[in-house]
Amino acid sequence: MNNECIFCKIIRGEIPCYKIYEDEKCLAFLDISADCLGHTLVVSKTHTNNFVETGSDILNTLFCTTQKIAKHYITNCGFDGVQIVINNGESSGQSVMHTHFHILPSVKKENKKFENYKKDDLQAVCNLLRLN
Ligand code: AMP
Ligand code: ZN
Repeated sequence: MNNECIFCKIIRGEIPCYKIYEDEKCLAFLDISADCLGHTLVVSKTHTNNFVETGSDILNTLFCTTQKIAKHYITNCGFDGVQIVINNGESSGQSVMHTHFHILPSVKKENKKFENYKKDDLQAVCNLLRLN
């Protein structure tokens, strides 16, 4: 845990989040930027600064949890695909120095399932996508 880290504060419950999934090792929540519908961040409850500094045990857990959520989004929620993004280091756009995977759900043009959802209505999006 890192006292100043915003994601550690979310993990400790000191800052609220729109929680999608939680287990003893990982937490997933909606990205506050709401730049695309369902933009989700997956973090380990153990603080590491970035992808390349993270050990294989934590990485495996993060990958498997990210896959679980991606499958849920496609199989149960109605998305057609997902993009998985990892920024490593400030020069790549990493702004929060707590390792995290982005899940960016995607839909085909003809998929109208989400047309009544606003991407910035994070509570409604969370209610739709929450896994546990
Ligand atoms: P990155 O640029 O890869 O480090 O991604 C960090 C992400 O964290 C950005 O997309 C931010 O919008 C997001 N973010 C920052 N603060 C919060 C917060 N309190 N709750 C949810 N997402 C956040
Ligand atoms: Zn942290």
